[in-house]
Amino acid sequence: MNIHEYQAKEILRQYGVAVPGGEVAFTADEAEKIAREMGGDVFVVKAQIHAGGRGKGGGVKLAKSPEEVRELADKMLGMNLVTHQTGPEGKEVQKVLIAAGVDIARELYLGIVLDRSTSKLVIMASTEGGVEIEKVAEETPEKIHKEYIEPGFGIQPFQARRIAFKLGLEGKQVRSATKFIMALYKAFVGSDASLAEINPLVVTGDGEVLALDAKMGFDDNALYRQKAIAEMRDVSEEDPLEVKASEFHLNYIKLDGNVGCMVNGAGLAMATMDIIKLAGGMPANFLDVGGGANVETVRNGFEIILSDPNVKAVLVNIFGGIVRCDRVARGIMEAAKSIDLTVPLVVRLEGTNAVEARKLLAESGMNFEVAESLEDAANKVVNLIA
Ligand code: ADP
Ligand code: MG
Repeated sequence: MNIHEYQAKEILRQYGVAVPGGEVAFTADEAEKIAREMGGDVFVVKAQIHAGGRGKGGGVKLAKSPEEVRELADKMLGMNLVTHQTGPEGKEVQKVLIAAGVDIARELYLGIVLDRSTSKLVIMASTEGGVEIEKVAEETPEKIHKEYIEPGFGIQPFQARRIAFKLGLEGKQVRSATKFIMALYKAFVGSDASLAEINPLVVTGDGEVLALDAKMGFDDNALYRQKAIAEMRDVSEEDPLEVKASEFHLNYIKLDGNVGCMVNGAGLAMATMDIIKLAGGMPANFLDVGGGANVETVRNGFEIILSDPNVKAVLVNIFGGIVRCDRVARGIMEAAKSIDLTVPLVVRLEGTNAVEARKLLAESGMNFEVAESLEDAANKVVNLIA
């Protein structure tokens, strides 16, 4: 799950990570009031959407007075913001962060992610802040310093200091950065984050180190014990089909292809997408209907898959381990009756009672293609579209 910058900053603040003052506003009135109460003579109005690159897209603006904050907020709220991360359709701005203007001496990069190949958290730091870090990683990877954290020990102060030195910091800046990095790590672990990205991390004119921007993502499987973070979810920022699927407790991820997939088990769903590609097709989605594929889950699954206008055929691939295939076959037949199945369907059932299941489907008089194997299923579904 991802959250907005203003929410990430609230979490960071709770862990003692230095962030500039600021508050979220939903109206121009609120924006002006926040600026007035905050005081100071430079403010920044920042569009809150789940995408980066807002600065270049016109979603980050400086203001010199609370009146100007009001004017900018008024323009920004309701605007459709297009950045390199939103895609050409852009995203509607529904709220803005009013932040205190910071006197920036340097813009750096700091991020924490899980490195799956070493099973460790890795802190990445670079002097190339404020720009796309993917570009830096590709063109000048030597400019990214990586510090791997031993999970049994957690971050050690010498590691935080080493990062500070690699960033070219000196004196007071090193102390400020070390404190910042230690606190950021604590925030990451304490909130079950999967990503924390501070871009830019800034050094101010008087040597303080602050998070000017903050992006955080969380492990969905830990949200049950992170109630306050779970409440920060903003479904208006998510794909509507994925939101609907989560209401059905289905694990669905929309992709760009045209072969809809309904599979039980995440591993089998991955293998199904692979074999569709191998057969020359492109999967339209990942969908794991779970272990107990019954009439209802199958019907819900169809509803979600068929809501995607790109879907030209559907492949149902169920392995009857816990479930019996004849039950699933009845589920498919039942579900197909109650929904408007407008595209061809290929069904591959294997495992317990698979023979009975295939017979049921073949004799149903309904319009399915029954496949004998996974390879056969992939070839059939791809041929139906070609
Ligand atoms: P994004 O990454 O979406 O473009 P950022 O929050 O990183 O948005 O802001 C883009 C740029 O705007 C920053 O690199 C910085 O130069 C400037 N900026 C952002 N917040 C402030 C602030 N509080 N004070 C001064 N400048 C800011
Ligand atoms: Mg940024």
